[in-house]
Amino acid sequence: MDRIGMRTPLVEMDGDEMTRILWALVKSELIEPFVDLKTEYYDLGLENRDATGDAVTREAAAAVKRLGVGVKCATITPNAQRVEEYSLKSMWPSPNGTIRAMLDGTVFRAPIPCAAVKPFIPGWKKPIIIARHAYADLYRDAEMRIEGPGLAEIAFTPEGGTETRREVYRFEGPGVLQGCYNKDSSIRSFARACFGFALSQKMDLWFSAKDTIMKTYDGLFKSVFAETYEKEFREKFEAAGIEYFYTLIDDAVARAVRSSGGFVWALKNYDGDVMSDMVATAFGSLAMMTSVLAGPGGVFEYEAAHGTVTRHYYRRLKGEKTSTNPIATIFAWTGAMRKRGEMDSLPRLQAFADALEKAVLGAVAAGEMTGDLAAMADASPRPPALDSESFIAAVRARLAAGLSAEGAL
Ligand code: NAP
Ligand code: MG
Repeated sequence: MDRIGMRTPLVEMDGDEMTRILWALVKSELIEPFVDLKTEYYDLGLENRDATGDAVTREAAAAVKRLGVGVKCATITPNAQRVEEYSLKSMWPSPNGTIRAMLDGTVFRAPIPCAAVKPFIPGWKKPIIIARHAYADLYRDAEMRIEGPGLAEIAFTPEGGTETRREVYRFEGPGVLQGCYNKDSSIRSFARACFGFALSQKMDLWFSAKDTIMKTYDGLFKSVFAETYEKEFREKFEAAGIEYFYTLIDDAVARAVRSSGGFVWALKNYDGDVMSDMVATAFGSLAMMTSVLAGPGGVFEYEAAHGTVTRHYYRRLKGEKTSTNPIATIFAWTGAMRKRGEMDSLPRLQAFADALEKAVLGAVAAGEMTGDLAAMADASPRPPALDSESFIAAVRARLAAGLSAEGAL
């Protein structure tokens, strides 16, 4: 059979637990039979991160920078319990945190549109895509426990210049202190990524922050967005019939809940962390959210938004079949292959990504789905819950039929 060829390898980052099992299945059943898959493989499974002193995570991030497109499986972020469970040498940092910091990117999280999943907010007819600035702020802070009375200040010494100081607080008793930062260059690339993404999706862009309180800090974000819009995007937005607007975060939350969806919502790092879980849950299923990290200079990393689905994995270890939904993992691969196809001018690879997504959504529409979706379906009787292997087999059958109908193979 004439499998679809590739030119540049994808950076493949393997992961942990149930998603590691799905990862291997998705590759062997849904991709490799049809695509002559080229990847540069990095094993980000917790055992290998421990064995390499986490160097493998940094090497993988560097490879994404070098090759342009990566696809990542969910990984365990170790806590005290995991350190014991895996006898770890250290409580290694979150791989996603490491990769985000190295790629200085923006994370776009979007629900996979699917009639079986009804949003908890009934007015949401169209997707809301969260764009999270994935650099610094609270995630690269300096913190201090204050033990007793004293003066807290922030100080900055310009290279070759003299120090400026500002009082934060004169403590009269114990408390806590935090300092954080961001950079013009990172904020500007965040703004550009958001405007560019909204334009490519033909969706309005909202940006929200709290510049009434953080006049300098959030004020900088607000003015960089305004400047980027005026200089580079206003004409393109007007031509596309879409809008950009800034509003305070509390106002944005109220508007988002009342909206019918259909916009990209740009948020600072912490706001994006919180709001992306709210939006994912309100859209009905964490298993139906994709995530792409876009870095400056056109680098992309695709993944499912959910974790390693530990509870299902433990059941699997006891020999039970599980009905874990592989859709977001499949869409991470299709996103990466489509982007690779676009960059390397490989229309067959792009068409394959479209065909695989169509096969997935077609299966669900025909009542072939995993338990999480079956539980939400309003059909009566409820469609039966397929285990992961049977669902993947159903998708494979549809994919093969779809591809041969299109004469793609
Ligand atoms: P999780 O893996 O997202 O799973 C939480 C629950 O959501 C599951 O128990 C399951 O509910 C449901 N669920 C999530 N994905 C599903 C899927 N594909 N199909 C069916 N149900 C699904 O979150 P967690 O249990 O809090 O975290 C587990 C591990 O993942 C942790 O070690 C954490 O560090 C890691 N994590 C990694 C990432 C990442 O790499 N991007 C993100 C988040 C968490 P039921 O059990 O009710 O069926
Ligand atoms: Mg979070």
